[in-house]
Amino acid sequence: MLTEKKLLKLLYETGAVLDGHFILSSGKHAGRYIQCAKVLETPRRAELLGRELAARIDTEVDRVISPPLGGILIGYEVARALDRPFLFPERGVDGKLCLRRGFTLQADERVLIVEDVITTGRTTHEVLEILADCGATPVGVLAIVDRSSTHEVTEIPICSLITLTFPIYEPEACPMCAQGLPAYRPGSRPSLAATH
Ligand code: ZN
Repeated sequence: MLTEKKLLKLLYETGAVLDGHFILSSGKHAGRYIQCAKVLETPRRAELLGRELAARIDTEVDRVISPPLGGILIGYEVARALDRPFLFPERGVDGKLCLRRGFTLQADERVLIVEDVITTGRTTHEVLEILADCGATPVGVLAIVDRSSTHEVTEIPICSLITLTFPIYEPEACPMCAQGLPAYRPGSRPSLAATH
């Protein structure tokens, strides 16, 4: 079994966790940055993490679902480990997540939600709404990294490989800014060059 210590080492080695001074897409600052796509870059590692997450589920699962984009690789690997079908929703023109490409969920299906990182739980909540609309039953929420403060999404506990909570600062209250350390924008969204 992959311990939290071994996983953290792997996350650092692959650049999925960075320490420094970062400007997040929200505009807030942090001393740590997580980009799970880096640890999933190698298919064998993604498969291993999928197996580790799947081993934490001890209930019947009919289907696995992951929100786009970050959750799709790890969700697919969990589905492979469980030998169950995988599907993903997409954002429609109204910005809401919905099922497209012929993907459907049947009423009473038992559905497992898999994410790479859960921070606010907002996206997971949107997936839960899709399940509710279809009458499907959520049987669990898995994540590689749980960064949430509550460790649950609408009363469903998050089962993660690692819990990493760290402070996020408003720019004016950032201790690294106060020390004059240069800040970087590592986000996946297009952004301007690093600022100081
Ligand atoms: Zn700062």
